[in-house]
Amino acid sequence: MLILFDVDGTLITTHRAGVAAMGHAGRALFGPHFREDLVDYAGRLDPLIIRDLLTAHGQPSDEAEVGAFRAAYREHLVRVLAVKPCPAQPCPGVVDLLEQLHAMEHLTIGLLTGNFPETGRIKLEAAGINVDRFRVCAWGSDSPHEPPAREHLPEVAMAHYKQVHGRGIESEQVVVIGDTPHDISCARAHGCRALAVATGIYGVDDLSAADLAVQNLTDTEGIIAWLTRQAAPAR
Ligand SMILES: [Mg+2]
Repeated sequence: MLILFDVDGTLITTHRAGVAAMGHAGRALFGPHFREDLVDYAGRLDPLIIRDLLTAHGQPSDEAEVGAFRAAYREHLVRVLAVKPCPAQPCPGVVDLLEQLHAMEHLTIGLLTGNFPETGRIKLEAAGINVDRFRVCAWGSDSPHEPPAREHLPEVAMAHYKQVHGRGIESEQVVVIGDTPHDISCARAHGCRALAVATGIYGVDDLSAADLAVQNLTDTEGIIAWLTRQAAPAR
């Protein structure tokens, strides 16, 4: 079984440090009028967010420009997360849940996130979460198609699983855990189960398309029981 966690709003909250760092990066590159609030962030891929930000400011958004923005974003993210108290914190229940899942045999935990690998790692480490526990990762820059989309990432994660374990995994054995409708639809696109958690900007009612939607991940026992049950739900 493969359990794939989203990062922002699911494993951790950074109190919008990522968005703030995008703004600082934009102002460093393009001047004081750059505004980070012109695009949607929740559940989206960072390469697409950066393209949208560049386009919204009349800038070209080819690979070189996105790459330059990505580097500036990383630099500012480190700075924004260095303040005390750190704005990055684990979401309720996450630390215990990861601890227990990590100890379970026949179960692999991974990441499926819109973050770039370097900035996703920076955020998780700032929140005190050991990134090396996630043996399978599909990052926001891993989509093999153009335009990139979150819907491509379960396939990337399943291919990575095969590399790590030397055998493949069926999509019914994969669970995607996330805090937005994008997380649910990317699971649906591949026949994976979707567990939605209302610790981001969406409430439980907004996430009812998931197989299970919960307020937070504090019911460790109940969540593990749901995750590890063998049959996919009949819906
Ligand atoms: Mg999220």
